[in-house]
Amino acid sequence: MSDDNCVFCKIVGGELEAEILRDEDGVLAFRDINGRAPVHVLVIPKEHVSSLAGIGKVPDGVTKRIFEVAQDVAESEGIAKSGYAFRINNGPDAGQEVFHLHAHVMGGERVRMP
Ligand code: 5GP
Ligand code: ZN
Repeated sequence: MSDDNCVFCKIVGGELEAEILRDEDGVLAFRDINGRAPVHVLVIPKEHVSSLAGIGKVPDGVTKRIFEVAQDVAESEGIAKSGYAFRINNGPDAGQEVFHLHAHVMGGERVRMP
């Protein structure tokens, strides 16, 4: 299911443009519109799940692919060796703004929490 009001569902559906780096069964990776590191990519399940509270609905293979695609993108962006943050902001206290589960891949400079 997709959510009509969700920006990431719109990107999945092609209604909203994004610089897509990987497009495969169940998983999409695209550049963050407001990159806060030299490399800032979002990796998402194509299926709408608002947060980790819904992780049980994501097929195991898709969850695993999110990790693998993150590493794959890091390699092709040239930051796999220098390192990168793989991060999920989950809920208000983490500053989650888009309620479609997504992992940030950030690198190309020293990335610190928060
Ligand atoms: P959150 O704080 O929810 O973990 O991060 C949401 C991220 O989505 C932010 O880094 C923000 O810049 C990015 N974002 C929000 N809207 C869009 C959009 O329409 N396109 C793209 N490519 N990124 C978006
Ligand atoms: Zn969505």
